[in-house]
Amino acid sequence: MRILVTNDDGVYSPGIAALAQVATKFGEVRVVAPDVERSSAGQSITASRPLSYKRTPSTDVETYRVNGTPSDCVALGAHNWEKVDVVLSGINLGSNLGNATWHSGTLAAAKQATLFGLRGIAFSTPSGDSEPDFALLKPWVEIVLKMLLDMPKACLLNVNLPVGAPRGILWTRQSVRQYDGKVVAAKDPMGRPHFWFTVIPLENAEEGTDRHAIEQGYVSITPLRLDLTDVEQLAKLKAEHPLDKVTFETSPRPTQ
Ligand code: MN
Repeated sequence: MRILVTNDDGVYSPGIAALAQVATKFGEVRVVAPDVERSSAGQSITASRPLSYKRTPSTDVETYRVNGTPSDCVALGAHNWEKVDVVLSGINLGSNLGNATWHSGTLAAAKQATLFGLRGIAFSTPSGDSEPDFALLKPWVEIVLKMLLDMPKACLLNVNLPVGAPRGILWTRQSVRQYDGKVVAAKDPMGRPHFWFTVIPLENAEEGTDRHAIEQGYVSITPLRLDLTDVEQLAKLKAEHPLDKVTFETSPRPTQ
């Protein structure tokens, strides 16, 4: 099995080293990751300048750094290494729960993998003043990976690991109760106003969600899909406002 490992924290993050080490137990591993941190880059791609793909010395696995986004890394990684089976992303220093699904670069790399017809699994863990205890988390990453790699139909997965020893593993859904963004105003050393856009923790996460699982000390696994269509709303709109009745007679094409 060929396993491409990437992240959004950059090629030198301790999180990617931990994930790559675990991955070597399951197959051939190659690391292709951004040369600098690209957290919150979402699924952006670099289209206005060329990308570089440079070998980086590593004692563990073949490693390359890219001057681009996590999605760029998946594109270049899969292009330069044929027959990749699965893309692993992380372990991110910081959880990716609920609304983070939209802007997370870690998750975006996994999403990008599925766009290429590959499987994508993202790993994240909360990170505060001290670095996550990767020695403690690695056996859990191995358990989760062993389980998920045996489920070929599970294509896109968001895995979050709690702080400390997990109590177990739960299947969860994405928490989307409310947006958790916050803007903090401050001044730079020259006295000019500037702003930080950050997130604040939500309280009362619903049971069954990713956020609730992590709060309770469980490993959270959320299966995701790329199709964002609101199927219920689509059926309702089609029934209530049929567009097939709108013809060129009732709404004529503008003449030039
Ligand atoms: Mn990150």
